[in-house]
Amino acid sequence: MNTRLSLSRRPAALAAISAALVLLASSGCSRQLPSQYFRLLSFGTLVELEIIGVDQKKAREAYQSLQEDFDFMHRTWHAWEPGPLGRVNQAIAAGRAIAAPPSVLPLIRISQDLARKSDYLFDPGIGKLVELWGFHNSDLKPHAPPSAEAIAAIVGQHPSIRDVHLDGFHLSCDNPAVKLDFGAIGKGYGIDRAIERLKALGITDAIVNAGGDLRAIGSRAGNPWRIAIRDPDGGGIFALLSVTGDESVFTSGNYERNFTWEGKFFHHIIDPRTGYPAVGTASVTVLHPDATTADAAATALFVAGPKDWYRIARQMGIKFVLLIDTEGEAYMNPAMQKRVELQKPVPKIHVSKPL
Ligand code: ADP
Ligand code: MG
Repeated sequence: MNTRLSLSRRPAALAAISAALVLLASSGCSRQLPSQYFRLLSFGTLVELEIIGVDQKKAREAYQSLQEDFDFMHRTWHAWEPGPLGRVNQAIAAGRAIAAPPSVLPLIRISQDLARKSDYLFDPGIGKLVELWGFHNSDLKPHAPPSAEAIAAIVGQHPSIRDVHLDGFHLSCDNPAVKLDFGAIGKGYGIDRAIERLKALGITDAIVNAGGDLRAIGSRAGNPWRIAIRDPDGGGIFALLSVTGDESVFTSGNYERNFTWEGKFFHHIIDPRTGYPAVGTASVTVLHPDATTADAAATALFVAGPKDWYRIARQMGIKFVLLIDTEGEAYMNPAMQKRVELQKPVPKIHVSKPL
């Protein structure tokens, strides 16, 4: 899906881009310093790795190491295939306390903190709702949405990651309606671990891009990394951005996983307060140093929508936001406005107070 392409030469390929993509730098700098490019499949998406300025042997070593890490993370945190997270969810459903697998613990801790800061609009405890809507399925097909009664039955039990209690390794949960699903944060957490690994290998200039969600370190041989933000309406490019240093760009969009049933459109980002797909937002792009926070925040701000994104962004410590609503109008803070290079006419731009 997520294709590297040169914008000017291949406009027809734009329909194939994912949420964001890294543009090939047009300068010749990559000729002076070697640029190594690898791809692997993880988190249900194509993960692209570009490393600058190291020899082939080192780049390959980094790639192999990341491949092992991603495979491990994918297995460990999968929301519906058996594995450590599945065992935790079985225990929660049965009301049993367990010794939490060390591979899952940090993700629970970080998620609890970010969920609290998001007023629980990002809440990985709502796995039963995600499952009810049919999104725990690798092969998503159009299907009837769940009944209002079935949704209300789960929402009425207020499942939330705040119901999970940790005491060292000891995990207990007082709400059997909780089912953990780290779909909104796992990719970000995984990308942070990947960047840590690259830094430990002495790599200073690289980008890890998982289906348009990415973190970049250093530069592209002295040039910024150029990132395109997808237009949620039609799949062209909405805006371009330059990124240097250590920064993550994450987008949550209603186009990622969805289905249409009897003319109605249903997407995969659920409002924990209603149990239905969040209304009003088409996509949210967030920039933040760490990918874990950026991932959780993009989901939270999507649910918060045009009215509440500013407050939640402040609470989560986010400094750059671009939200596109379902009418195609854009919302952003002044610092983001300075950075985005819009690529299409936008019916209305709402600029908030500084974040
Ligand atoms: P993507 O992974 O497509 O970029 P997100 O990061 O927004 O999108 O994650 C969406 C996934 O997170 C859903 O598929 C579901 O598994 C889970 N999810 C849906 N709604 C929420 C929510 N309000 N809070 C936490 N996780 C959610
Ligand atoms: Mg997310």
